[in-house]
Amino acid sequence: MKTSLLTLAVLMPCAAAAQKQYNVLYIMTDDHTAQMMSCYDKTNVSTPNLDRIANDGVRFVNSYVANSLSGPSRACMITGKHSHANGFTNNEHGVFDGSQQTMPKLLQAAGYSTALIGKWHLVSTPTGFDHYEIIPGQGEYYNPTFITMDGNTHIEKGYLTNLLTDKAIEWLDAARAQKNADGTQKPFALFLHEKACHRDWLPEIKYLHEYEDVTFPLPHDFNDNFEGRLAAADQEMNIGSDHDMTMDYDIKMYDANNPSRLAETYLSYLGRLDSKDRAAYDQFYDSLAVDFRSRHLTGQALKEFKYQRFMRDYAKVLKTFDDNVGRLLDYLDTTGLSENTLVVYTSDQGFYMGEHGWFDKRFMYEESFNTPLVMRMPTKFEGNVAHGDITEMVQNIDYAPTFLDLAGVEIPEDIQGVSLLPLLEGQHPKNWRQSIYYHYHEYPAEHKVRRHYGVRTADGWKLVHFYPVAAEDTLDAQKIDAWEMYDLNTDPGETHNLYGQKGTEKQLKRLRKELKKLQIQYNDPILETYPIK
Ligand code: CA
Repeated sequence: MKTSLLTLAVLMPCAAAAQKQYNVLYIMTDDHTAQMMSCYDKTNVSTPNLDRIANDGVRFVNSYVANSLSGPSRACMITGKHSHANGFTNNEHGVFDGSQQTMPKLLQAAGYSTALIGKWHLVSTPTGFDHYEIIPGQGEYYNPTFITMDGNTHIEKGYLTNLLTDKAIEWLDAARAQKNADGTQKPFALFLHEKACHRDWLPEIKYLHEYEDVTFPLPHDFNDNFEGRLAAADQEMNIGSDHDMTMDYDIKMYDANNPSRLAETYLSYLGRLDSKDRAAYDQFYDSLAVDFRSRHLTGQALKEFKYQRFMRDYAKVLKTFDDNVGRLLDYLDTTGLSENTLVVYTSDQGFYMGEHGWFDKRFMYEESFNTPLVMRMPTKFEGNVAHGDITEMVQNIDYAPTFLDLAGVEIPEDIQGVSLLPLLEGQHPKNWRQSIYYHYHEYPAEHKVRRHYGVRTADGWKLVHFYPVAAEDTLDAQKIDAWEMYDLNTDPGETHNLYGQKGTEKQLKRLRKELKKLQIQYNDPILETYPIK
């Protein structure tokens, strides 16, 4: 079969070259989650512009990441490979090897103009882009610093989310004017990587007062007791903890007499504001802080206060981003680019919005293992186009092969993801994957989430192994070696660990087998350290 396909490709080079090459606009946020996107969940906020993409296109309802963390997630996206295969397993020590094969490089070789604007976070110099303008590390929301291709840095006045859209539109204006030798438009792929909605949720000044009249409902497991879950019980991402979620940096109730470990960073961000904006900022949060201190909240009341502040500030940051999605979609419509451009929106992972009493991500539990994913096909796509929900299990390693497929580029054999193009064309391939593999590597590190890997099946079962780091690693003081198993059909919040419980032996056997199959398929070396019998 393979030989005959290859022969066909050799026999029909003209047919391959004649395939229309569509543009790609890939928009990715940081730490945005489906619970805060109204086309997925209307409980908390309205995101009309993000919803436009889903309404005119498709919504993936079983969309997952391979490793729920910024840098690793980005590396999975541009390589189409799991973390162990692309080498960028964690933010703490990771440096992306930019000499390896990446999807932007392959698109470039196929005649695409490629650009990266916004957050990179892979430490090494970006490769595979004709143009890039990135923010250093996590970047700043207010009057941010940018790094240009010549290696120089400069500061621009404004709010980062708005500036990134300005830069995207400026680049698109130039890109759409570029021509191939035959006079047709040279195709492009733009990767617009937002900082929003990453901690520490500093809102655009004009939206300081948004959402202040909203009281967000507490998630049902806001006061989870973590029974039967050792790793979940011993992390550092609790909203209720002053150490994990600080009163100044995170909650903005700054107190000069009681600064947190992150107060200095917080003040340095505010120091970037000009005097007028700083006055507006201080007026808003100082009055809240005075009121807060007069109430002497403790315990559950304090935890709930922090939750409301976190939700409100997050929602404000999101609002500016959603506005900017509207600007971009309007731009595509008015320039006619909508006709030949695939629009993709996703986040680098999901996030906890108070579920289990948490913020942050990392765990393979659904809230952060999931990531929002909506796409809108070119309106003049030559072929069938799907609308509505796509229920097949997809993962962020699938984006690279999807874009290559759309560009008519042969997908290299070592790419581990699969093209989503058949799904976007309304097909439901019978042999589609029935399970997803996950592996989180960053420990010991901030937020103290243990390393773990696991499998999640299409029929709603999950098996996870939290494992200790190497025996000689003295940093891992509290070694946890524990398995968890969930039936999401009866326990969507994953609070009842079924591992080792009577009557679940058959499921465990099946899940172990599936996990081993995936570890072999993806060639994860962890199988040597923790062999599955
Ligand atoms: Ca992130």
